[in-house]
Amino acid sequence: MKHRLGHYMVAGGGQSAEIALSLRHLERDPWDDVLHTLVHEMVHQWQDQHGMPLDHGQAFRAKARAVGISARATRPANPVAQPRLAARSGNRSQP
Ligand SMILES: [Zn+2]
Repeated sequence: MKHRLGHYMVAGGGQSAEIALSLRHLERDPWDDVLHTLVHEMVHQWQDQHGMPLDHGQAFRAKARAVGISARATRPANPVAQPRLAARSGNRSQP
């Protein structure tokens, strides 16, 4: 996880869904920022739990605002909708 702050990975390949945060993010950035990243990823988890596309579209923005974080994603949606094995194959993703 060199180029992203965190990510949400859907369950797959016998593995549970997972949220990961960048160690670099934890070490370099204020905890408020890291908390924002965590909640951002939790909104993706919420999308997954409700069978929604994992993106930064209207539903994402509405939920982000509802839980008190910025609805703006600074980068495009990550490949979180892809199976875990694909996500581990070197795809870069963003929070
Ligand atoms: Zn995101």
